[in-house]
Amino acid sequence: MGRIHVLSETVANQIAAGEVVERPASVVKEMLENSLDAGATRIKISVEAGGKKLIQITDNGCGMVRDDAMLAFERHATSKIKNAEDLLSVATLGFRGEALPSIASVSRLRLETQAAEEASGTVIEINGGKIARVEEAGLPLGTSITVRDLFFNVPARKKFLKAESTELSHIASLVTHYALAHPEKHFELHSAANAMLVAPPVAGYSERVYQVFGKETLDQLIPVAARQALERVGLPQPPPWRRKEVDDDGEQIVAQDPGEMRIHGFVSKPEIQKLNRNSIFVFVNGRLIRDRLLQHALTEAYRNIIPPSVYPVVLLFLEMPAAEVDVNVHPSKTEVRFRQQSAMHDFVRDSVRAALMKARPVPQFMTEIHAHATASQSLTPGSLTPGAPSWDPADGAGAASEELNSAHSAHVARNGAPTGVTFSGGFTLQAPVPPPISQRFQFEGGIAVEANAAIPVARGTEYAPLRPGVDAIPDNGCAPALDVGGEEPTLSSLGTLKPLGQIRNSFILAVNEDGLWIVDQHVAHERVLFERILKQRAAQKVESQRLLMPIVLELSPAQQAVFTEISDELQHNGFEVEPFGARSVAVKIAPAGVDAAAVEHMLHELLDQFSREEQSLNLEKIRARIAASIACHAAIKVNMPLELNKMEWLLAELAKTDHPMSCPHGRPVVLRYSVKDIQKAFKRI
Ligand code: ADP
Ligand code: MG
Repeated sequence: MGRIHVLSETVANQIAAGEVVERPASVVKEMLENSLDAGATRIKISVEAGGKKLIQITDNGCGMVRDDAMLAFERHATSKIKNAEDLLSVATLGFRGEALPSIASVSRLRLETQAAEEASGTVIEINGGKIARVEEAGLPLGTSITVRDLFFNVPARKKFLKAESTELSHIASLVTHYALAHPEKHFELHSAANAMLVAPPVAGYSERVYQVFGKETLDQLIPVAARQALERVGLPQPPPWRRKEVDDDGEQIVAQDPGEMRIHGFVSKPEIQKLNRNSIFVFVNGRLIRDRLLQHALTEAYRNIIPPSVYPVVLLFLEMPAAEVDVNVHPSKTEVRFRQQSAMHDFVRDSVRAALMKARPVPQFMTEIHAHATASQSLTPGSLTPGAPSWDPADGAGAASEELNSAHSAHVARNGAPTGVTFSGGFTLQAPVPPPISQRFQFEGGIAVEANAAIPVARGTEYAPLRPGVDAIPDNGCAPALDVGGEEPTLSSLGTLKPLGQIRNSFILAVNEDGLWIVDQHVAHERVLFERILKQRAAQKVESQRLLMPIVLELSPAQQAVFTEISDELQHNGFEVEPFGARSVAVKIAPAGVDAAAVEHMLHELLDQFSREEQSLNLEKIRARIAASIACHAAIKVNMPLELNKMEWLLAELAKTDHPMSCPHGRPVVLRYSVKDIQKAFKRI
């Protein structure tokens, strides 16, 4: 007898569950997506014990008729696609028909559903993949699914679940982000008796950010909005003379409009720096995804604005025609593949970059987004960082708890009940190294409470679900319409700064109507020189100086390789470097302002930097690096006394730069202590 047999349906489902259902948050994700696909405008989620004991999701979507409800638990049963062709243009979040049978095979599941087309509703109970009960019942329109005892029959899986608080924080963050993606819908998340998130419909995306995270977070974000026509879609078009105007049935053939890519959302100001990518959330056609290409585009957008080792906070929504993106890449649907990868990459990079340049925000003394997002781990198996944030109402530590606390307080505040939750948010003097006095500058939180109390909410507004790639995105959220109070000083006010003096011959202290400013003299000058060099380079007019004695450098093989690659560009930047023997080069001319003594060090550093680079070099990157390096070595150093007129000159030059808030390496240049901050610190307001 042969040894091969076909696995039973239950085993097959459990295997699928291994991929689709990693943890409670994955169950929530699948069911949330189903509710959204069903056109729900109100979605309520309740969990117990971090979702390990119970997850219940109730929606007011289209519901299912009895036959469909039965079929929904069959493997590969879906209402969303019919054939392989449909896979090319999936407009729903689900399409694999795997989630419900998978979840049902590893839990005790109860489905209650009522469709408008049928007189009575249907209740189905399934335990570990086996149908236990099917009956009729009078139910409200929509669907409610209760999942109890996840992994009760897969002990190996159950063992891998983390602490309840960790699982709960994954769920909370996931729900929060879906709520951010759908401001026109009502979302609720409850854990046992706690209302963690109650978000009635609001008018737009920034209102939603305000509603969920509060004013402070919104203040730290810059809106992004852009669109770009796609040039080509599908196969290359035949030349016009070979194109048929009419098809075989005599119907007029209309040239297909390739459509466009659109992006909107928020990115953080440069002073917000996160140590990992957990606060980067990107939705593609309504789907929360992780994508290396887009991560790279974001890193590029922030290049020379924040240091390479830190990450911004990002909430971006990308929309494009469904045919432009393959969503069938991974069972949990958290990865996609773009058809026009580089177009997408550059579009994201350039839109974010443009938004950052336009906003030219003034860095304040470093503030942290307290309400930052944490769900990402749930979407990347195995990436859970040790010491993941915990949810404990009594414990204000951990970013997730603060996020949840804010959401929680927001809700409770609206309902007038005492919160019992204390959290300290707000402004913390953090840069440079906090002096001992910093404790006194720690302001009390409460932002979310007041923010939420003040926000007008448009209750009961019904919206048709946004069909990704089809309907226009409501970009009402992108221009922050909210009066967030207080003028945000732009850097043109740098021009009015009066220098007072230096701290330790390194930091310039200056004042104007906006408050007190501290400028790092070295990085300020670096920024000025960096932009000047780039401009001179573009005009082929970099200033240089002939060295009294040529400087001979010995290069390692790796350095030699890089040198060959960038020698042209070095020349355009004011260097004259010639081969000198087998492994050496002689520098005869160097850019103006760089000390002869620094030239050797600078070139070695530059060549090493390039040789460590993993990504391939492009000209723009090479230029920026060289300019940054020259700027760094030519700039005024710290520990250098400056006369008042020098300081005035430097501030005036800085005010003229395009991007005065950070040095080419991404460090902040100026810190501002606003009048409001000062008044707050003195407890005047
Ligand atoms: P998929 O979402 O990939 O189609 P699922 O297993 O998640 O597969 O769901 C199977 C089907 O059950 C869906 O195609 C949909 O028709 C139906 N369904 C699931 N959840 C809901 C819901 N909340 N409301 C209405 N229909 C639902
Ligand atoms: Mg689904």
